[in-house]
Amino acid sequence: MKNTIKKQRDFFNSNATKDISFRKNQLKKLKKLLKDHENELDEAIFKDFKKSPFDNYVSELSILYHDIDDAIKNVKSWAKRKSVKTNLLNMPASSYIIPEPLGVTLVIGAWNYPYQLSLAPAIASIAAGNTVILKPSELPVHTSNIMAKLINENFEPEFFKVIEGGVSETQELLSQKFDKIFFTGSSYVGKIVYQAAAKHLTPVTLELGGKSPAFFTEKCDMKIGIKRMIWAKFLNAGQTCVAPDYILVHNSRKEQFLKLAKEEIENSHFHFDNDNYVQIINEGNMQRLIGMMEGAKVYSGGNYDIEERYFEPTVLTDVSFDDPVMQNEIFGPILPVIEYTDIDKAIAEVKKRPKPLSLYIFSKERNIIDKILNEVSFGGGSVNDAVMHLTNTYMGFGGVGDSGIGSYHGIHGFNTFSHFKSILDRSTLIEPNLKYYPHTKNKLKMIKMILGQK
Ligand code: NAD
Repeated sequence: MKNTIKKQRDFFNSNATKDISFRKNQLKKLKKLLKDHENELDEAIFKDFKKSPFDNYVSELSILYHDIDDAIKNVKSWAKRKSVKTNLLNMPASSYIIPEPLGVTLVIGAWNYPYQLSLAPAIASIAAGNTVILKPSELPVHTSNIMAKLINENFEPEFFKVIEGGVSETQELLSQKFDKIFFTGSSYVGKIVYQAAAKHLTPVTLELGGKSPAFFTEKCDMKIGIKRMIWAKFLNAGQTCVAPDYILVHNSRKEQFLKLAKEEIENSHFHFDNDNYVQIINEGNMQRLIGMMEGAKVYSGGNYDIEERYFEPTVLTDVSFDDPVMQNEIFGPILPVIEYTDIDKAIAEVKKRPKPLSLYIFSKERNIIDKILNEVSFGGGSVNDAVMHLTNTYMGFGGVGDSGIGSYHGIHGFNTFSHFKSILDRSTLIEPNLKYYPHTKNKLKMIKMILGQK
C-alpha cells in the first residue's frame, strides 16, 4: 500500500495528470474497458446478488458512461482558469481562480451499486487530474474482483489502482496520508473515515445514508405517484441509499394509498421468480430486515426465504415513529406507512430526526410543497417522483448533516476533487503608498473612501 501511494505521489508530482488530453485519454480507455467487458461485468454482478443485465445497465453502467462522456466533453472548460473582478484597493491588477487537482485520492465504495459507487467518484477524480486508489466494497466479491482485474491489468498502478479488502485493509489505507478521501457507505463508518482523515487534515467527501421520507399529501395524484414511488422503493430490493424509507400519508388518503400500493406491487416485476428482482446482499442483512419486522402489522407481502436471500416487497401499516422499523435506515424492501393529519406535526417529526439524504413530496398543493422544501433540511429530492433526481447531473448529488458532506456527478464531481487557487496578479506600473508608513490621518481617510466605509 505504502509503495503504491509513494509511486502515485511521485507520478502526480511529475505533472502528467495535469495535462487535459492525458485525463481524457484515461477516461476514454476506462469507457472502452467497461464496454468491451460488459458481459463479464453482467455475470459478476449477477453472481453477487442476481442483479440482471437490464438493471446493471440502467442503474450502474449507463450512469458511468454518461459521467465519462460528460467529463470528456467538458473537462477542458471545467479546468480553465476563471477571471473574476478585482477590488479597487488592488487595482491595477487581474484576478483569477485556477482549478487544480488535489493529488493522491482514495475512493472507498459501498456494495449496493458496486460499479457505480466505486467508479463514478474515480471518474470525477481522474477528470480533475488526480491519481486514484479505489477500494471497492468486499461484500459483492465478484464485482470487486472484476474491477480489480480490469483496472489493475490496464492502468499503471502509479495512476489508477484497485486495492481489494475489507475492514482491516480499509483501516490500513485510512492510516496513510491522502490528499482527498471520497467515501460512500453508512454514517457509522463515515465517522471512522472522518476521524482517520482528520489525523492528516485530509479533506473528505462522505456520501452516507439515512431515513428518507416520502410525503403523500391530501391532494396528490395518487396513481402516478404510487407507480413512481414503488419502482423507486423496490428497485435493487430497497437496497438504495435514496430509496423512500417510509411514507407519510395524509389520513384521508391512507386506505387508497395502501390499496393502490399493494396492486402496484402485484403488477410490478418485484417478485421472487422475476429475473429483475435482486437478492438481499447477505444473510446478515436478511436477519437485520427480519428483526425490523418485529411486532409490525403487515398490510401486504412479508414473506422471505433466508437460504435464497429473497425478501418480498412488504408494506407495513399503522406504524408509529417508536416502532423498531423506524429506528434505523431500512435498506431493504420494507415500506412502513405512517398517517398524519397535521402537516406541521409531520414535518416536526421529520425534523426531530437526522437530516435525510433524500425527501420526496407527492402533492398538487404548491403551498405544502414549498413549505416542506423551505422547512426541512435534506440532501436532495424530487417532487412527484423519487430517486430520479440523481440522474440529473446538472445538479450535484450528496447529503447534509448525518447523510453526508459534499456532492458529486458532472461538474460537481470535478469540483469535489479540485482545489480552487485564488490568484491576484498585480501590475508593477504604480505603487500607491497608502498602506506604508507614515500612517497619516489623510491616508486613513483615503483608505476608508476606497473601501467604501465611513
Ligand atoms: P459500510 O459503511 O458498511 O461500508 C462501506 C465501505 O466501508 C466498504 O468499502 C467497507 O469495506 C468499508 N468499511 C466497513 N466497515 C469499516 C470499518 N469499520 N472501518 C473502515 N472501513 C470500513 O456501508 P455499506 O453496507 O457498503 O452500504 C450501505 C450504506 O451506505 C447505507 O447506509 C447506504 O444508505 C449508504 N449509501 C450511501 C450512498 C450515497 O451515495 N449517499 C450510496 C450507497 C449507499
